[in-house]
Amino acid sequence: MNDLFSLTDQYSSNNYSPLKLALTKGRGAKVWDVEDNSYIDCISGFSVVNQGHCHPKIIKAFQEQSEKITMVSRALYSDNLGKWEEKICTLANKEKVLPMNTGTEAIETAIKIARKWGSDVKGIADDKSEIIAMNGNFHGRTLGALSLSSQESYKKGFGPLLDNVHYIDFGDVAHLKSLINNNTAAVVLEPIQGEGGVNIPPDYFIEEVRHLCDEHNILFIADEIQVGLGRTGKMFAMEWEGVEPDIYLLGKSLGGGLYPMSAVIANHDVMDVLTPGTHGSTFGGNPLACAVSIAALDVLIDENLIERSADLGQKLLNQLQLIDSNIITDVRGRGLFIGIELSESAQPYCLEMIEKGVLCKETQGNIIRLAPPLVISEEEINKVINVITEVLEKGNK
Ligand SMILES: *Cc1c(COP(=O)(O)O)cnc(C)c1O
Repeated sequence: MNDLFSLTDQYSSNNYSPLKLALTKGRGAKVWDVEDNSYIDCISGFSVVNQGHCHPKIIKAFQEQSEKITMVSRALYSDNLGKWEEKICTLANKEKVLPMNTGTEAIETAIKIARKWGSDVKGIADDKSEIIAMNGNFHGRTLGALSLSSQESYKKGFGPLLDNVHYIDFGDVAHLKSLINNNTAAVVLEPIQGEGGVNIPPDYFIEEVRHLCDEHNILFIADEIQVGLGRTGKMFAMEWEGVEPDIYLLGKSLGGGLYPMSAVIANHDVMDVLTPGTHGSTFGGNPLACAVSIAALDVLIDENLIERSADLGQKLLNQLQLIDSNIITDVRGRGLFIGIELSESAQPYCLEMIEKGVLCKETQGNIIRLAPPLVISEEEINKVINVITEVLEKGNK
């Protein structure tokens, strides 16, 4: 065990500080460590395994495709890119999709589209496009995504970053209005902030953003990389607001927990600003990714995982709200995406839960984020409730 940790630490770059827990197997909502202890996974690789660990249908799609052809490049067609595109566009009610690989690449792509659209369609002078982002967001770690971040500790030392990014508090309509001008190309937000602490937008905020974007001809970019695909009890978290963005960004569980895939989804009028040669990705939309993602989307729908997320999430939320503890300051969430906010550091409580067989992790220091695979059983949910109650009630003393 210690050999495993020291070997990894010896060669790993130092940009992570993982817990001393090494997993070796996962099935459904359960994972096993190298000493064969089992845990209910409430992290899900940060919502990558919505369909559950090692889903047999997704593995089968992966295996079958990997014996046919895996890489084609976009210099040619493949026999399943179009099928995947039709599926994802139909789900999102949009006309066009651009496949990428990771979430941060989807963000980079959206920034490029917003700037090109700003100059080609809206007539913003070159190099003048502005983007408005939210305080407390997370959009990824590459330089464009980082430029959208409001967190100085993520950015320090990595400059120069992109110019012309402005920030508002998540929910501050008045500030948004005051920042909008003729050079504003896009507003980008997560419909529920994930890393930021499972922050649910105030009522009507998203609707108001949509309204202002319409009024001032601005693109609304919804980063659903973490909260999309059933995580919040809807296919898209934007459905909670009854609002459609101009651009959806998906990633994480789009690849069924098996293969990285992300997507930028929009209508013609937006997507058509990209022409041959203006953007691309070697691995984007490869046949293996498409086969896996088709299976991943089928599993979400065929197994009613979105309804499951809504129902079990509501049950979990209700039970957690009943916990009598003076260190809990808020319990909030939608579907199986729940944040328990504490008045003190959440890490010791997460460690205790892990000891009792529930894998979870804090975000922002004092918030426990729960995001189990959507295939989690009722029995497993009950165990999660019992463990959390035990651990947090104790904090009350
Ligand atoms: C994880 C995440 C990203 C970045 O995705 P990567 O695949 O890690 O690049 C972007 N936006 C949101 C909301 C995320 O949760």
